[in-house]
Amino acid sequence: MNKLIEKLKKEHLLTREELIELLKDDSINEELYKAADEVRDKTLGNEVHLRGLIEFTNICKRNCMYCGLRRDNKIIKRYRLTEEEILDFAEKAVSYGYRTLVLQGGEDPYFTVERLVPLIKKIKALGVAITLSIGERSLEEYKAFKEAGADRFLLRIETTDKELYEKLDPGMSHENRKQCLRDLRTAGYEVGSGALVGLPGQTIESLADDLLYFKELDADMLGIGPFIPNEETPLKDCKTGDFHLALKMMALIRLLLPDINIPATTAMETLDKNGRTIALQCGANVVMPNVTEGEYRALYKLYPGKICIGDTPAHCRGCVTGKIRAINRVVSDGYGFRDNGSGPKKRDENGKRVE
Ligand code: SAH
Ligand code: SF4
Repeated sequence: MNKLIEKLKKEHLLTREELIELLKDDSINEELYKAADEVRDKTLGNEVHLRGLIEFTNICKRNCMYCGLRRDNKIIKRYRLTEEEILDFAEKAVSYGYRTLVLQGGEDPYFTVERLVPLIKKIKALGVAITLSIGERSLEEYKAFKEAGADRFLLRIETTDKELYEKLDPGMSHENRKQCLRDLRTAGYEVGSGALVGLPGQTIESLADDLLYFKELDADMLGIGPFIPNEETPLKDCKTGDFHLALKMMALIRLLLPDINIPATTAMETLDKNGRTIALQCGANVVMPNVTEGEYRALYKLYPGKICIGDTPAHCRGCVTGKIRAINRVVSDGYGFRDNGSGPKKRDENGKRVE
């Protein structure tokens, strides 16, 4: 076996130079994927956690250069679900068997604490774990959502290359992004982050830095998405991210952080029609099927070629379950917290987990 993969499998840590070497060497890819799959199996077994994704608003005050929801995109038709619609989708998702619901959206100022807290409480009353993915807020707001019943929060760092980040996310501060991730920890969430792979100007060295950052953060969930150029954004003529490089990042994350939750992302399935199945066999243990209904699915267009925009939530649930069973894995009926128990692990004042 490749010496570095062997070391990573045993010690779950490599130096920056070693990570760069693995990222650059494509002759080790199959071995790396196999190692990640074995570590996933040994640490977490064959369960796959399903999270039902509600895309509740495509209105965004930010202007990220890669994203179709950016405020300067005047082509996209905007929508914001009503509280009744969100609750209706949530109830249906629960009836399909989802134990976690993810509320994701643009940074939509309409959803103040006053509006979101009662909504979170009502969804929580359905007996599900709640993940929020709504961007940057203050510590006080994060605390209010947590108290209302939110359990987890997804906020990708996107890239640890500060200069690249601030170029691609105009008006946003990399330091604040990192502060938000610390604040989420302080507020008691299971913290999810992740990166885009293949951004214009992104280097292999900076991807290695992303991996070391995730390890340092001790993130509970990490999602990796290949960058897909959107024709309605300034990056429309840029190159699409490499599927295998994204897969390698995901496999390396599994080896660095053996027990965390790693989604097989929708963006991977957009680039390869078996993308999520492949990802599940290279370290991933989570799938996030869409439970948004109707025309909203197509309107929540971060990037083109989004899968399943014409399908119903019931269809998606059945389809994903079939794909999971076909590779001899099982759909979990638990909440799927990182520690496999009923709630987030306790942490000390420095954010380190205590047993
Ligand atoms: N507004 C929130 C959540 C919605 S965006 C936030 O930004 O955190 C969710 C994710 O979509 C982003 O973190 C980004 O990584 C991803 N995304 C946006 N545009 C993309 C593109 N063109 N290709 C691939 N992923 C993209
Ligand atoms: Fe808004 Fe998130 Fe898209 Fe940035 S990535 S424009 S914050 S929806």
